[in-house]
Amino acid sequence: MTGETGRVYLVGAGPGDEGLLTKRGGELLKKAQVLLYDRLVDPRLLCRVSEDCERIFVGKDAGNHRVSQKQINELLVKKAREGRCVVRLKGGDPFVFGRGGEEVLALEKEGIPYEVVPGVTSAVAALAAAGIPVTHRNTARSFHVITAHTAKGAAKSGSLTGADGVEDAKGRFVPYGALEGTLVFLMGVGELPALVEQLLLGGKSKDTPAALVERGTTIRQRRINGTLETIVKRAGEYGVKPPAVFVVGEAAKFHLLSREWPLSGRRIGVTGTPAMAEKVADALKELGARVYAAPCLKIVPTKALEVRNPDYGEFSWLVFTSANGVEQFFEQLKAMGKDCRALAFCKFAVIGPGTGQALWHRGFRADYMPERYTVEALAEGTAALAGRGDRFLSLRSEKASCELTEIWERAGIACEDLGIYETAADDELADLLWRQMDVLDTLTFASASGVKAFLDAGERYRKDCGEDGGRQREIFALGGPFPQRLVCIGHKTEEALKEGLPGELWNRIRTAEEYTARGLVEACLGGKGGFL
Ligand code: SAH
Repeated sequence: MTGETGRVYLVGAGPGDEGLLTKRGGELLKKAQVLLYDRLVDPRLLCRVSEDCERIFVGKDAGNHRVSQKQINELLVKKAREGRCVVRLKGGDPFVFGRGGEEVLALEKEGIPYEVVPGVTSAVAALAAAGIPVTHRNTARSFHVITAHTAKGAAKSGSLTGADGVEDAKGRFVPYGALEGTLVFLMGVGELPALVEQLLLGGKSKDTPAALVERGTTIRQRRINGTLETIVKRAGEYGVKPPAVFVVGEAAKFHLLSREWPLSGRRIGVTGTPAMAEKVADALKELGARVYAAPCLKIVPTKALEVRNPDYGEFSWLVFTSANGVEQFFEQLKAMGKDCRALAFCKFAVIGPGTGQALWHRGFRADYMPERYTVEALAEGTAALAGRGDRFLSLRSEKASCELTEIWERAGIACEDLGIYETAADDELADLLWRQMDVLDTLTFASASGVKAFLDAGERYRKDCGEDGGRQREIFALGGPFPQRLVCIGHKTEEALKEGLPGELWNRIRTAEEYTARGLVEACLGGKGGFL
């Protein structure tokens, strides 16, 4: 028992895209002590909870038996009774075919406080993300969201041809054939033939536009178009799988998606540390790309600064080679009980604009930044500025190269360097990235250690494929499911990638001309996307 009041938050996770989780939802994820989630939730959201949060999967998984609704209700009550902050995360909106109501009633009965946090429902968002307006003036004046999931005795194709005719109780979709407006069916993939048959019987014309949007708003989104006459066949051809929404009506004719962005239609995976990945992902989204950010590197502070505990008065220059270095340094300084006055007599040098900006955010302007953003240029440039008796302190990643101090030492400058942080692979995110590899046209890398985390995850993935066999193994035989473009921030990153990649794929590698987030983004421009 924590002594706190147990409570439950039913949070709508949105349709898939991380950006469509509400602000309130994001705050609650950080506070969660127990998280109950199901299959539709983007697994990257799960990485946002604290390390000690207990995560419980309560969804249906291929092969595994389903946790029953009753068991879920009991679990919510039990965890809340333990005095914990329980977040029940559900795809879309908790009350749109999410059985949220049943969970709330169970909590009410037990007198447990709860809050429902609405979510963006796939019933509307998956359509918009595919360019289908759910209503449109003079074309679609209403929309109807219908579950196609039928309990036992599901309507099966052909069930209407019996003696019972159209009025057969199993023909429950027939009346919807008379509705105007946009019909949106959820959970309809398995029922598609029966659904279509009954809508036609109910009066819809076979030429009525229809579409399926699979995994709307996510990197795997696909839109399959047709009419009531053709959609079943097309769904089969494309192998549409749940989750998908089935849309019927004139609105399904529209394609309201701009093709005017420099990266329209492109699907780009982004790796790196969280800060770097966010920066690159934001810039790519600004250019119209669909982005899958998988920051597969974590920043872990080392003890070097605490142990050395320098008197900054002894150093004339503090030199940073990454924005992460800046962030770590100031965080650690704070943790050691020091404020900015400790640095009052220091000058600052940074490797490039990103690092400079991070420093500026901490209240210091860089006194020096080289024209070329390389360690060599930084080392030489600062060496040229050194006066008599100057001491340099490099604050860097544990794994970074020693080039900086080597050049200084050769120039006879007194210097010291501290590896104040290191990066560690975030295996969970790297593994998730590999599952999206087949739909990406481009993948970006911001460091050699990021490449390593990615390649290691690839090995794990390859082993997994050995077990579930089939298609993935075929892809590997063809040279791996690597995207057409592999974009590296600089030559060290490129070398690391070449080490892990068969020589015939090296022509997919592009290296940024400028070793910055902007350089990476520019190297992504040009080329085409391919996914539907
Ligand atoms: N509460 C959810 C719906 C749960 S029912 C919501 O508000 O969105 C599950 C069904 O939702 C799936 O079978 C599918 O029809 C639909 N669905 C959920 N996420 C989807 C997505 N990203 N793209 C398309 N359909 C989705």
